[in-house]
Amino acid sequence: MNQKPVVLIVDDATLNLQALAHILKNDYTIKIAHSGEKAIELAKQDPFPEVILLDVEMPHMDGYAVCEYLQNTNETSSIPVIFVTGKDSREEEERGLSLGAVDYITKPLHPSIIKARLRTHITLKHQHDLLKTVAMRDQLTGLYNRHYLTDILIRKVTYAIRHEEPLSAILIDIDYFKSINDTYGHLVGDDVLREIAGLIERNARSEDVAARFGGEEFILLLHGCDGDNAVKKGEFLRQEIEGHYPVGIDVTASFGVVQFDETMETCTHFLDCADQALYQAKKEGRNKVIAYKNH
Ligand code: GH3
Ligand code: MG
Ligand code: MG
Ligand code: MG
Repeated sequence: MNQKPVVLIVDDATLNLQALAHILKNDYTIKIAHSGEKAIELAKQDPFPEVILLDVEMPHMDGYAVCEYLQNTNETSSIPVIFVTGKDSREEEERGLSLGAVDYITKPLHPSIIKARLRTHITLKHQHDLLKTVAMRDQLTGLYNRHYLTDILIRKVTYAIRHEEPLSAILIDIDYFKSINDTYGHLVGDDVLREIAGLIERNARSEDVAARFGGEEFILLLHGCDGDNAVKKGEFLRQEIEGHYPVGIDVTASFGVVQFDETMETCTHFLDCADQALYQAKKEGRNKVIAYKNH
């Protein structure tokens, strides 16, 4: 993180752009847009801005419209917007802030004040991003955590019902993991968990969700995937794990597979079905993939 933070400056007047760029150029990587439309395009392009300085009065699409669009668009909603404007009435400022801007700076520009405010907002953004990661991710493996899984599961189920698309889940539980801990120690056990998590993550598509469900249990949500294909995926993963030997140890896992259907009334019920199938896989000798049967 030694690179300079990226700031997008938006103004239809070249002189204003130059003045701001001059103030900030030593501390920031600057991107420039002459119009609202261009601002939106650049906000979605790598390198992504960490903060946007936005003029209010511009032809076609003004700053308020740009701010509203950015706030309501998933890709850009977490980028803080600061209005920089000659309009200094209280109503204008209120309007800007009510659209979700984090700050409102009026001209004339005081370089030290602009720099200080920008620094504050970038620090806040970094802290916010960090908190979000901590809240969503499992610390040991870096996979999504159970809390996030619960959240996304509701959305995936709703999507599947609305679009009449299949959705499947694979519950994965490492076999005899307790004896791995007992034999090699807890720290080696942790390494095994990290490696298995990495293997699962590498084999998940971007629309799928891989999460750590509990101690040595993982879950893979397969978007748009029916039960038969989920079993194939499970079988593939079973073989991958069997052949992987994390930190040189012979490790296998058991798999419970379920396709969502609308008779399952809750997300908990859906996962319970995966758990029942997993229990069956354990009972049948482990290192197996079993599909849930509804009867
Ligand atoms: P089975 O084949 O029936 O699944 O047996 P198992 O030993 O894998 O299952 P059991 O539920 O008896 O034991 C799970 C073990 O996982 C017990 C617990 O100490 C260990 N465990 C849970 N979380 C962690 C962790 O974060 N790190 C390590 N090293 N071990 C963990
Ligand atoms: Mg203007
Ligand atoms: Mg377990
Ligand atoms: Mg286990």
